Amino acid sequence: MSSKRPVGIDLGTTFSAIAHIDHFGEPQVIPNAEGEMVTPSVIFFEEGRVAVGTYALQHAIAEPERVVEFVKREMGKSPADFSRKFGEHAYTAEEVSSLILRKLKQDAEKRIGEVIEDAVITVPAYFNDPERTATIHAGELAGLNVLQVLNEPTAAALAYGITRLSTDQTVFVFDLGGGTLDVTLMKVEGDAIRMVATNGDHRLGGKDWDDLIVNLIAEEFDREHSKNPLLDLRSYQELQTRAVAAKIQLSRRREVMLVHSFDGASVRREIKREEFETMASPLVERCRSLCEMTLSDAGAQWKEVDSLLLVGGMTRMPMVRELIRTFGDRPIAEGVNADEAVARGAAIQAMLCRFEKDRQTGGGGARTPLGEAARARFTNREGGLIEVRNITSHTLGVVLWDEQRLEPYVFPMIRKMTPFPIEVENAFGTAAPNLEKVVVHVVEGESTVPDECTVLGTCEIELPPFLPKGSPVSLLYRYNANQVLEVVVRGFGKETVATIRRGTAFKESDIAAAKADLAQLKVD
Ligand code: ADP
Ligand code: MG
Repeated sequence: MSSKRPVGIDLGTTFSAIAHIDHFGEPQVIPNAEGEMVTPSVIFFEEGRVAVGTYALQHAIAEPERVVEFVKREMGKSPADFSRKFGEHAYTAEEVSSLILRKLKQDAEKRIGEVIEDAVITVPAYFNDPERTATIHAGELAGLNVLQVLNEPTAAALAYGITRLSTDQTVFVFDLGGGTLDVTLMKVEGDAIRMVATNGDHRLGGKDWDDLIVNLIAEEFDREHSKNPLLDLRSYQELQTRAVAAKIQLSRRREVMLVHSFDGASVRREIKREEFETMASPLVERCRSLCEMTLSDAGAQWKEVDSLLLVGGMTRMPMVRELIRTFGDRPIAEGVNADEAVARGAAIQAMLCRFEKDRQTGGGGARTPLGEAARARFTNREGGLIEVRNITSHTLGVVLWDEQRLEPYVFPMIRKMTPFPIEVENAFGTAAPNLEKVVVHVVEGESTVPDECTVLGTCEIELPPFLPKGSPVSLLYRYNANQVLEVVVRGFGKETVATIRRGTAFKESDIAAAKADLAQLKVD
């Protein structure tokens, strides 16, 4: 266990995967201890230990109260808004996620016979600062050194584009997973992979299709037996599992039979694919409008798209394929594994981070365990490292006081679709004479009304005494490669790096203690 290879991790809502770069420079997914390429993002809590993956998923029916699913939807929330108590400990979303990461890390270490530390973890492009920060913390809690959080569509485009840099092309990434839809327009160019426009809906995914079937059966139950099978947690969980299976079967078959029993009664119901498609048409329409919006944000047209990159398990559904076909009948990218593309792209990015670090520290190729031929795969036409250029998915603003209307408003510091890392500085005048301090409210969102934006946090700056109104204070927003924000305040000969107090569960200083606590839990 010597040279530590970096890995890429797709930490998904329903499934997660881990990948590395093999000796030939190829990104490969590392199977888990059960031999599966993807691990269900499901956690089953027992006394002093947890099970993650398929075993936990199977337990969801037997003991639903001990199982956590869809924790990715809770990332970035404060412990007051999400925590799950098992035994003595109330687990935050970061902690629960860290257990999934630990399972992936631990199984992969056994498989490749090396200790894993450095990792790139992917997140949806629309994830905001607290959600990204929470993801980094989850990685740290799992004992990983998080090189970067990378946007999932960028990762998918990187996995696809890295061998195709010789021809410039425009790629539309459509990622429909278990809980979310993420669409992004990318350009693959000679030396770089560049994000052009991005949008997402984090309340639109496979689960919504599952729920249609769950509700259909519940209605049938109500009609036939005047009972509600959703009131009992176990029955609900069981029905949910059946609905997922029925949905997946309907991707290949034209009809399925679903049987569900509850409280001494049972319902048999045939579901035809056509009926399911009619029920789901509002969901498909939501997918369509998000895609059209993204294209129009980019000022592009379907005919300019060279290939459609389909990611996520839901893209196997015929109705989703049909939707995609209506996008100007553009060709679907071949050789893309919908379940593995994101993890593979993350592994490529992890290797690029490693090369970049080697370059900065003058290590050359010595430190990175890859031969010359394999290294060549990560370079562009000119022999430099492939560049990945992302853009912001939300506007970052500051709340100011409107003198005319006498109400607060949001001033945009960094607009949506700006390439980053970036620094932006603006000067503002103090709102009143003799102010002792300024409280900066940092917000994220597309509105000028503060209440319609997400508050990222606040920071306070002490001012010198007896300042007249309108004294200049300048604000610098520094947005790093992880899309995590730092705010610097300059004025009166002083420069203060303001700590943003985020609502998320952990401060940097709490991580070590929480990590030690979690290490007591055995994960398998
Ligand atoms: P995530 O990235 O959100 O973890 P995935 O990309 O792994 O999710 O997609 C999982 C979703 O895809 C689930 O809702 C699952 O039921 C669905 N799914 C997987 N295979 C199929 C299939 N053949 N037909 C329909 N849905 C599928
Ligand atoms: Mg995914």
